[in-house]
Parts: sequence; C-alpha cells; structure tokens
Amino acid sequence: MLHTDRRGILVLAAVMPFAASSLPALAQAASGTAAGDWDLSDIYPDWAAWDAARKGVLDALPRLAAYKGHLGDGAEAMAKAMVDMSDVTKTAVRVYVYSSLSADADVRVAENQERRGQSADMFTALSEATSWTSPEILALGKDRVEGFIAENATLKTRFAFGLRDTLRGAEHTLDTAGEAIMASAGAPLAGPSDVRGQLVASDIPRPTVTLSDGTEMRLDDQGYTLARGTANRDDRKKVFAEFWDSYAAFSNSLGAAYASKIKGDVFRAKTRNYPNTLAFALDGPNIPEGVYRTLVDETNKGLPQLHRYFDLRRRILGLPDIGYYDIYPPLVSLGRKFNLDEMRTITLQALAPLGPEYVGLLTEATTKKWMDPRPRPGKTSGAYMNGSIYDVHPYLLLNLGEDYDGLSTYAHEWGHAIHTLLSKKQNPYETYSYATFIAEIASTVNEVFLSRYMMERAKTKEEKLFYLGQQLENARGTFYRQTMFAEFELKAHELAENGEGLSGRKFAEVYMDLLRRYHGPNMILPDNVAHEWSYISHFFRGTPYYVFQYATSISAGTWFAKSILDGGKAEREAFISVLKAGGSDYPVEILRKKAGLDMTKPDVYRGFVATMSDTMDQIEALL
Ligand SMILES: [Zn+2]
Repeated sequence: MLHTDRRGILVLAAVMPFAASSLPALAQAASGTAAGDWDLSDIYPDWAAWDAARKGVLDALPRLAAYKGHLGDGAEAMAKAMVDMSDVTKTAVRVYVYSSLSADADVRVAENQERRGQSADMFTALSEATSWTSPEILALGKDRVEGFIAENATLKTRFAFGLRDTLRGAEHTLDTAGEAIMASAGAPLAGPSDVRGQLVASDIPRPTVTLSDGTEMRLDDQGYTLARGTANRDDRKKVFAEFWDSYAAFSNSLGAAYASKIKGDVFRAKTRNYPNTLAFALDGPNIPEGVYRTLVDETNKGLPQLHRYFDLRRRILGLPDIGYYDIYPPLVSLGRKFNLDEMRTITLQALAPLGPEYVGLLTEATTKKWMDPRPRPGKTSGAYMNGSIYDVHPYLLLNLGEDYDGLSTYAHEWGHAIHTLLSKKQNPYETYSYATFIAEIASTVNEVFLSRYMMERAKTKEEKLFYLGQQLENARGTFYRQTMFAEFELKAHELAENGEGLSGRKFAEVYMDLLRRYHGPNMILPDNVAHEWSYISHFFRGTPYYVFQYATSISAGTWFAKSILDGGKAEREAFISVLKAGGSDYPVEILRKKAGLDMTKPDVYRGFVATMSDTMDQIEALL
C-alpha cells in the first residue's frame, strides 16, 4: 500500500470469512525465492509443506460451500460454520503470505511468481465458495443474528463484531444477482488505473537533462525524485520545467482516465445507495464524515504556519525568493551514518517513554530473524511490515539506507510490527487486524519520538537544524500536502456529482487553485506544475479518499506523543490499549473510547499546527 510519496506499506489480510473477497497484499507488484535475512521457515519448512497447505485449503472448499443455507439452523450451527470458514481463511492467508514474501525477496525467480499466482487463485476460489455468507446473514436479519450471538459464546467472543458490521451494511448490500454484477464490474472499473500505468511507464516520452556538474539524468518518476532536491537552483528549475512538461503534454489522456475513474466511483456509490462518493468511501471503516471535513477546515486555518515555513526555508537556503522547485533540498545536510545495531539501540532508547511492555516486545523481536533489512539485487523496492499470519510473528521487508531516513523507516515499520504483536495479545484472529486509519498512528508515534530523541541529543547547530527541518518537512508532506490531495479528490468528485464537465484542463485548474491557496502568495508556481495531480497514482486506483489518513495519522501520532511526554503512565497505557484493541471496534471509536481522542473535533489538528509553530520558533532561535 504505499502510495503517493509515503512509505510503510502495510499488508493486511481479510480476516473475516464473509469478507474474504479482498486479497491480501495484492497492492504490491513484484515477486521471487526464499532468499533474504529473515527466516521464513517459521511459516513453512519448505515448498512441499506450503503446497500441502495450499491443497488443504482447496480440499476444504466444498465443505465450506455446503454450509450455504444453514447459518440459520441455530446458534451452534452458525458458530460451527463460522469457525470452519475462519480457520480455513487463516491458513489461506498463511499460504499466500509465504509465497508473497518469497516472491518479494527476489523478483527474478519465476517459480515464486507462479507460486504467488497459485496462492491468488486459491484465494479467489475461497472467496467464491464463501461469497454467499453476507447475503445470508442479512437475510436472517438483526434480531435472529443478535439472538444467536447472545446464545453462543464463540459467536460472542470471536464473531460478534464482524456479524454486526455485516448487518450495518444492510442498506448498501445488493441481492445475490446485484452483488455478482458488482463483482464482475471490478475489472473494467480498474481500467483507468491500468491506462495511467501504461502512459507513465511507457508512452510518455521522458526528457533527459544535463545538470550543471555534467551529470545526465533521465527524468522518469524515479529520476525526478532523485533530482528534485539537488543543491543547484538552476538545476532544480530545469528538472521541474522538463519533468512537468512531460506530464502536461499528456494532460488530455490522463484527464480522460481520471474522469473515467471518478465516474466509476460515482457508479459504485449510487448503486450501493450512498448519497455521494465520500459517504461511500468512508463507510467501510465507518469513519464519520466530520473527520474529513474537520481535517480540511483546520488545515486551512493552519495554512499561515505552512507559509511561514516556506519563508523560513527561503531564508535558510539563502534565496531571494521561493518557488515550487525549492521545496525538496534539505535545509542542512547531515553526514551521519547509522548501522543496523545503532538503529536498533537508538530506536529502543527513543521509544523508552512507551514503557516496559512495548520496549520489552521490541527488544526481543529485534533479536529475531523477522526482518530483511538491506537492499539487494532482485529484491522488491520499498518497505513494509506484513503481520497477516496470525499464528506466526510479523515479517519486515525493508531497504534501509544508512542515513537518517533509513533509521526513521526502521522505527516506523517496527511500530507496525509491535502494534500487531500487541493486538494479537488481546484479540482472536477474527478481530486482531486493525484499520489503516489506526495503523499509521502506531508507526507515526515512533517517528515523532525518534525525531525528538535525536533533537535532544544533537550537539551542533547544524544537527539541530537538520532534525527540526525533518519535522517541518514531515508536516508539509504528510499533513498539508495529503490534505491538499484530499481536497482535490473531493472537488474533482463533486464536479462529477454536480454534472459538470471533467477534463485534464479542468483538473489542472482545480489543482492550481489549491496549490496557490496552500502555498501562499509568495510561492512562485510555474504553470506546468498544475499537472502534478496526474502524478499521484493513488487517485487512480481503488476506493477514493484514502490519502487523508496520512494527515489524520500524523496529527494523532503527534497528539499521543505529546500526551505521553507531558503526562505519564495513564497516557502511555491509553496509547497501548489503543494498539491492543486491534480491530475489535471501528478505528474512530477505539481512539475515542480508549484514549479520549475525538478525531471529529478540531483540537487534534490544532495541536499539530501548534507543534509545527513551536518547531519553527526553535529554528528561529538557532538562526
Ligand atoms: Zn506505515
């Protein structure tokens, strides 16, 4: 799942048998052998054992299909069927993850790609064998299902939340024929993302620029991310001019693809009886619309602090004015390197405020072979934690560099892993898997603690400026930029919902208005950066309105870090209890009930903006 320009792909499996339609880990491309520094034999000793387990799942499918029509036979009959479906799903996830991790460890090994394909096919077959469960539960109705839950301890402790969640979706679930049509519509609805993928990967001609030191760079998306922070301003201007021109030239095609994606979203929302696409998208994890609206309102109120940051950046970089091409070079550079042992030691010390239970788990976990830390030829790129196998520990695939970004990724991904371990302590398989909305809070808290720890120990002015600058860049990229994306998505969908015309030109116009508002009157915005919206692959795939969760996560993560540092044991325990709650309730409810944090209210976002302001005060004091 990582997405836009954030890291931390979290892979979660569908855990309820009646929700097994979504494949785990399909978001990742790539595949490969059981290479790597991690020990996958904790999952299966060899491929023969894996294949036996896979066949075991397939053999169980006729038995699962035969429960159809019998969930209403009684509480015990329902419990028996649910347990059987859940157990088979749990094994299926294990089969899938083993092949997926092996495939990612070396994408060049064709057999492992094929094995992952076999796992995916197995999942599709499982999904087909159990697709009748939601309609059948809905047909039984709330009263009978509640009666069964009251009568049966297994239903009560393991399945109640999932059953009630299914019932909650009653008015948005179609009849069996309707659901079959929606399932078949999945492939054509993914068309716009495929079209954009082809344009970006092959059809758009990519420019090559010669930088002032003579280096030639081909500006594909990866080349752009490497070149945009270069120290020479004329080089940056050249990189931006050429790169965004290449997107601008395909504005009509990219616009048509996005218009088509939006119409697909409108179709899905209407068919499922939602008033609009936002209500449709937020209903899955049951996030109140107020979270989205409050985030956008408060971010707008906090824009003067973002503008202050840009001016501060201009002064530190010694520029006469500031343009969109001046955002990426670091305020100061830090030569410091961190090896793996140092990353571990620093992370453990930085997270000490989280208390003995958390630190104890992390201390032990980091001695085990759960992690494949370094880049290697053939290994898939990026970083993720996979905690989808309930009966086995989490695994971490990382590509750590030796710089601060590597250290920060280490702390981030271990945040996901410890979250998973804590959730497993308290939850059965059916409710241990947590929502994305909460997942990125656990990882962000670690980044906040790490940054504060490094800042407190920084010896020179340059070091301090580096860590404070990192905090500001995080605030810009994760809070402001993602909320700006959220506004763009909303505006683009509203155009469609109001029957207005959609085109690349229109999207660029909307995006440019947002860029102006977010970046303030002093930011120089070249015309062609209006096409940046089409660079964000996330807009084109899956359920819309995803990226706002990065902004809510960094706000909540900062809130927790502050409450723990200002408070004490009670605040720390509240945070741990949020992690332990896993997926036993809806994410916004977990935060409210366990920690008194209301994500629909302005305070958490105001607190974030205040922290950013404080960071800038610290920088001003150093200058
Ligand atoms: Zn993450």
